[in-house]
Amino acid sequence: MKKFYITTPIYYVNDKPHIGHAYSTIIADVLARYHRAKGDEVAFSTGTDENSQKTIDAAVKNGAGEKIMQYADQMAEIWKHTWEKLDISYTRFIRTTEEDHKKVVYEIWKRVNDAGDIYKGQYEGLYCVGHEAFMKESDLVDGLCPDHKKAPERIKEENYFFKLSKYQKQLLAHYESHPDFVMPHSRFHEVTSFVASGLEDISISRPSKGWGIPVPGDETQSIYVWFDALINYISAIGLSAWEDHPADLHAVGKDITRFHAVIWPAMLFSAGVPLPAQVGANGFFTIDGVKISKSLGNAIDPLALAAKAGNDALRYFLLREIPYGEDGDFSFAKFDARYEGDLANGLGNFASRVTTLAEKYGPFEQGLLLDGAIAEKIEATRTEVEALINQFKFHEVLQSVWNLIQVGDVMVNVTKPWETGDKNVLFTLVVMLDNIAAFLLPFMPVTSTAITAAIRHEGGAIVVKKLAPLFPRIAGTSSSPS
Ligand SMILES: [Zn+2]
Repeated sequence: MKKFYITTPIYYVNDKPHIGHAYSTIIADVLARYHRAKGDEVAFSTGTDENSQKTIDAAVKNGAGEKIMQYADQMAEIWKHTWEKLDISYTRFIRTTEEDHKKVVYEIWKRVNDAGDIYKGQYEGLYCVGHEAFMKESDLVDGLCPDHKKAPERIKEENYFFKLSKYQKQLLAHYESHPDFVMPHSRFHEVTSFVASGLEDISISRPSKGWGIPVPGDETQSIYVWFDALINYISAIGLSAWEDHPADLHAVGKDITRFHAVIWPAMLFSAGVPLPAQVGANGFFTIDGVKISKSLGNAIDPLALAAKAGNDALRYFLLREIPYGEDGDFSFAKFDARYEGDLANGLGNFASRVTTLAEKYGPFEQGLLLDGAIAEKIEATRTEVEALINQFKFHEVLQSVWNLIQVGDVMVNVTKPWETGDKNVLFTLVVMLDNIAAFLLPFMPVTSTAITAAIRHEGGAIVVKKLAPLFPRIAGTSSSPS
């Protein structure tokens, strides 16, 4: 059995999930389901990043005061619940406050320290809490962090440093020998030129505020939240499992590519631990052309949308509308148009026509003829889907499947099986629909399963049951978004 290990970013617990988080997580879920369907043994981790300054701030802001852990527990449950509601098939939900995780962090810290890569030094400069990152003057726009629109804190403190600069050559050599290490390639170019321009050592601890993981042997310092957080990918499955089979893919958002493609591999080089095979960076969302922001209050709750339109419609929209790696725009009008056009009138209508007719004229015994041109088209789609999914071209996979649906629609219209009751034609349409369901399994698991359940193999014959509408009319998601 082949192993496949995929991860999502772990999310900060200072807020609830919005549609951007759902997007990264759904992408990982599609690949997890795809590999599971191929028979691979899949590990799929997601979780929460809790050892952050943000957690303390949010706990205070939400009236939890000193009860930070209680606040973190509550928020972790919200994230977990959201992924369960959205049919995310994770196998491990990891929290960075777990003891198991701390043990692995200590082990990695020890190995990096034993390699001579940790030293004490003075950090003087900028720190953006929004990013939980040290920043340079050159990163700022008008003195503000361009993403958080806030002036970063100016700090001067004694920290532990990691000799990142030592790994420049090794990183560049790795990039050279692994041309798909970062996807899409446009992001990879950014990473390689950043590393090629020279690396500075980075601070990996901060003065302790009584929260977070203490530096081994120095309780006055806490391990920098990113150094700690990245290690979650190992602790989610255990160090020996990682050494046996490291992650095949870290699915991340484009803003954290550098952490995953530069700092993380350097940490692993230092610790003598194998690297993940790939880092995939998805783009960002705007809502009606405007960036999602807490202050604007334009974040869309994925659960509210899914409750109205269904999980599969949400998944379909996100994957079909936004080419992987590119930025995309969400609007209720676009969502409604895809729901109506592609889902209700497209897949839903085709499935309903075929199963209604097939129930009436079935069952379909052995020996019926599958139309040769259609059989070829199905095989061509299978080949295309396989190739595209491995290049993360999810929107093109869906396009390809919808082309097949269109071919099916034309066939129904031309052959008019409701007049002829032609069993060869109907058998061909049922086989098409069955294959469409199989292609869609990773993308739209609820719909796919419903279709497959309606097409039963009984004693050598195929018996089809009429499907209830897969995408019933909804009042329009925009009418009351919450
Ligand atoms: Zn920032």
